[in-house]
Amino acid sequence: MAGLFVPKEVELIKKIPLSKHPTEDRLYWPWTQNGQYSCKSGYRFLKMEEEEVRPVEAQNGEKDLWRSIWGLRVPNKVKNFLWRVCHEAIPTKSNLKRRHILVDSQCERCRKEDETPLHALWSCSELKLVWALSQWNSRQITGVTNFKELLSWILNNQGNPELFGMITWGIWNQRNQVYNHKPCCTSDQLVSQAKERLDEFLAVFPRVPAVEPKPQAVWKPPDGRLVKINFDGAIFKAENRSGIGVVIRDNTGAILASLAQSFSPALTPVEIEAVAAARALEFGLETGTVEAIPEGDSELIMNSLRSGGGTIASVQPLV
Ligand SMILES: [Zn+2]
Repeated sequence: MAGLFVPKEVELIKKIPLSKHPTEDRLYWPWTQNGQYSCKSGYRFLKMEEEEVRPVEAQNGEKDLWRSIWGLRVPNKVKNFLWRVCHEAIPTKSNLKRRHILVDSQCERCRKEDETPLHALWSCSELKLVWALSQWNSRQITGVTNFKELLSWILNNQGNPELFGMITWGIWNQRNQVYNHKPCCTSDQLVSQAKERLDEFLAVFPRVPAVEPKPQAVWKPPDGRLVKINFDGAIFKAENRSGIGVVIRDNTGAILASLAQSFSPALTPVEIEAVAAARALEFGLETGTVEAIPEGDSELIMNSLRSGGGTIASVQPLV
């Protein structure tokens, strides 16, 4: 093989687990579990391809930012607002001018500069008082050119991004109230009001407790004279190895036979479960088991065994 393929390809070819019985080659669609094409999976595949074209770094950065925003303990309207600001999707005057809705993009507060999202929420000279009352000020944070960069900086460097989010939401809300000639708080009240609103929110929605560990599955003995064959697979990525284990027990729980095997390479989770299932059934026959209940923790493989092996295209020859 080494003479025919490049080393990377040889490695990939060697990773393909082989069936123990002769099977004909056949084509299957790799993006669904049963190997059948569906419109939904086709669409998902095209979207995936499209995303792969974009630079990976940008994708990861976007994902991290979105995850951080979504993880903030603030009302959903504030998360939504922060996300829209990061995408330059709030109706500041400069954004409205860009869309040919307004001709003038000057900030109404300072009447000096264009009202970009960063200006409207952060760098406007009229907001100095607001930010001076908070833990952040514009002298600390320099060199940011848009709101996304500012928020990323806050998330990475400063505590309490929740309060930062509440203040920016408050600034935008106040700006809109003034714009629509409606009553609103004064600039020196903005920070304390944002703090109060955040405290109120946190009192009603305290930190979500850590997810409780799942109760351990209890082994149930088989009925009557049947035996139960339990199997499982494991992957050791660092050593590029896979392992399987099989235990056959009677209805009192006594172990009649057991087996553990390790081999290379490291398979995928579904492959190793399929190999473990196939080896478990084979081991049952070798040990003279007549009637047995196979039991594994992969629902996918168990369903495949129940339905005669026809559901998981990629591992079907293995089961
Ligand atoms: Zn301004």
